[in-house]
Amino acid sequence: MKSPVPQYLENLLDEVRDNTDGAVADYIPNLAEADPDPLAIALCTVSGRIYAAGDADRLFTMQSITKPFIFGLALQEHGEKVLDVVGLEPSGESFNELSLDRSTHRPMNPMINAGAIAVNQLINGTESSVEDRVAVIHDFLGRLAGRRLSVDGDLADNELAGADRNLALAHMLRSHGVINDDARDAVDSYIRQCAAEVSVRDLAVMAATLANGGVQPQTGERVLDAGVARLTLAVMSSAGMYDGAGRWMARVGIPAKSGVSGGLLGSLPGQLGIGTFSPRLDSEGNSVRGRLLYERLSDSMGLHLMNPAEVGVHAVRSILVHGEDTVLTLQGVINFSAAESILHEIARHDFTEGRLVLDVTRVVTVESIGRRFLSSVLAKMRSAGLDIALHDPEDRLRELTVDGDRPESLDAEELAEVESEPPENDGEW
Ligand code: GLU
Repeated sequence: MKSPVPQYLENLLDEVRDNTDGAVADYIPNLAEADPDPLAIALCTVSGRIYAAGDADRLFTMQSITKPFIFGLALQEHGEKVLDVVGLEPSGESFNELSLDRSTHRPMNPMINAGAIAVNQLINGTESSVEDRVAVIHDFLGRLAGRRLSVDGDLADNELAGADRNLALAHMLRSHGVINDDARDAVDSYIRQCAAEVSVRDLAVMAATLANGGVQPQTGERVLDAGVARLTLAVMSSAGMYDGAGRWMARVGIPAKSGVSGGLLGSLPGQLGIGTFSPRLDSEGNSVRGRLLYERLSDSMGLHLMNPAEVGVHAVRSILVHGEDTVLTLQGVINFSAAESILHEIARHDFTEGRLVLDVTRVVTVESIGRRFLSSVLAKMRSAGLDIALHDPEDRLRELTVDGDRPESLDAEELAEVESEPPENDGEW
């Protein structure tokens, strides 16, 4: 059965497609010449399922989106010693601000350029050549994406030619003994880190790895320790969106990192990774349409981190077959992750005849996305010849209709009668 998720993502893109606010970054010639119009989104669940819409295979350079991951890699290599060179406080300043913590002389956090340059210098040991360090970094980013990434060397060369600001940062870091390498080599290494190319699908998988406690959900490889993944997400949530980080957390509530080429990565712990791409940026350097997509996703899917909702990936409590009836018992909060896992279960079990009884007495709340996905999948099942019934005494699925009508409703007695016939299976399919 076709999942309604891709169509939902297409609709989201349509809602923002005509917005041409903002402008492409112009301080790197290759970005200034970039096509401003591509628009794409991808989601990856912690089970490794990907959904995408728009220009989802289009490649773009990661830029600052590399920062949280390379911070994670540095923690993996050096443990908490990383915190000797970089702090964990939001800076509230723009990404390339020439500022250090007044007393420690460390950059405020690894998400601003000063911090990212300092962290880059730790990779593969402080004595590493630029070439070896960059190879380790790109290899690591490839393990996160589950494929070898290409690198835009031409863009990196052009960026280095005009990198006065980042060079100033590197000199400042050197003058305080935060880095030891030659300033030009340090910036070269950092800029090459940023030039790794990804699609939104890659971003979604990389973000899902963070959401999944460091295990890449498609390859199954543990790429980061669970504590490192958690710390990386924590820093993203306080400092990932340049000087708009506070408003972002308030409004969207998804730990995220943006990059100047227009990518935007978001990771919701225990649930999913998100990648969007749209090159026009707002005055804070964040993708305009990317931000709108995240706002809509957060609202309609109930993804705000501060929602008191339980994580919904175990929404299907059991699937039991009693004669002609299959009873699907749902539980918890039916948010995006829950609805997605329900759809996946339903698609896996090729129901073609009899009656599907949905028991929602254990459901706590249903987000609008859950209702929408459920009604679309139930409509498809009904048109395939299946009868649908609901046991919903507290009306949790309010307004759920299948092809415009409310499905047959079973009261407790009727459900008990269905369940009085011993199940043919043990609930595991
Ligand atoms: N290479 C870029 C720089 O350091 C990355 C900046 C960004 O994406 O914010 O200027």
